[in-house]
Amino acid sequence: MEHVKTLIVGSGPAGYTAAIYASRANLKPLLYQGPQPGGQLTITNDVENFPGYPKGIMGPQMMMELQAQAERFGTDIRNGLVTGVKFNENGPHVATIDEKTEISADTVIISTGASAKWLGLESETRLNGSGVSACAVCDGFFYRGQEVAVVGAGDSACEEAHYLSNLCSKVHLIVRRDEMRASKIMQDRVIKKENIEIHWNSNTDEVLGDDVVNGVRIINNKTQEKTELPVTGFFVAIGHKPNTDIFKGQLDMDDAGYLITKSDSTKTNIKGVFAAGDVQDTVYRQAVTAAGTGCMAALEAERYLTELED
Ligand code: NDP
Repeated sequence: MEHVKTLIVGSGPAGYTAAIYASRANLKPLLYQGPQPGGQLTITNDVENFPGYPKGIMGPQMMMELQAQAERFGTDIRNGLVTGVKFNENGPHVATIDEKTEISADTVIISTGASAKWLGLESETRLNGSGVSACAVCDGFFYRGQEVAVVGAGDSACEEAHYLSNLCSKVHLIVRRDEMRASKIMQDRVIKKENIEIHWNSNTDEVLGDDVVNGVRIINNKTQEKTELPVTGFFVAIGHKPNTDIFKGQLDMDDAGYLITKSDSTKTNIKGVFAAGDVQDTVYRQAVTAAGTGCMAALEAERYLTELED
């Protein structure tokens, strides 16, 4: 069985930053990219809040640069999924790759991030990829000049609505309460845009269409009034779920599935296993905080390995 000192699972800002630090410390890390190489930032538009980019940077570009930086110091980056793990209190830990190959590792850094949440409507699932999407930057282009809807009221929903408003004739933003969770600056951008209409106190009743989306029915949760919006695209931006299913029963997690790390640390309940980025962050969930905890995880892995050798 192939053995490595440090296995990094996931390729967002947390994973790549851990890789940069671990490879510079000569831990010769092996990184598996997972199902979405580069993570969530590859499906975002301009990143304006990452320090060091005064003019902003496109998410995919930033992730390519982080990958190149990790490779420069010798990180072994491979495409593949970690489909199972066996963590051992006294190590080494074993990971199964693509349900076939097993790899053992003295330390594991988990940076599997989080994935988009869905409303759970049958019509939403059936029309996924045929008008239903969770990524305006990926799919917005297909709806140029058309009318679309976005559901959600956080920064993601505002960002998606704003992005789409520059491509589409009209954007409906479906907000379930009478206020938004998004930051003031993001809300203002949306409210100011003439071709964005906000539907307050509204839930999505059904996405309409047989083979492709041709509308969405919303229901006002105060008046029960139903309205059909004539949209061809329906974008869901209601937050994310941590990617921790394969760790259930082995690592401590909260009710929502976020990994629990020790205070001021990335240590999990298993020695030698660390968690960084959105997979353990219920509060900040920013690229820069993910990168920060990736750095912490690599430093802690290095210290743990030094203690093992003593
Ligand atoms: P959030 O968890 O912040 O917001 C999710 C939104 O979706 C909430 O408004 C919530 O409504 C709504 N929602 C949840 N479930 C449903 C449902 N079933 N039906 C209708 N609406 C629903 O997620 P985001 O992805 O927006 O943001 C995550 C983090 O990323 C945040 O910290 C954010 O600041 C950050 N971010 C920053 C950006 C930037 O700075 N450029 C861009 C994008 C994200 P309710 O409010 O009623 O609970």
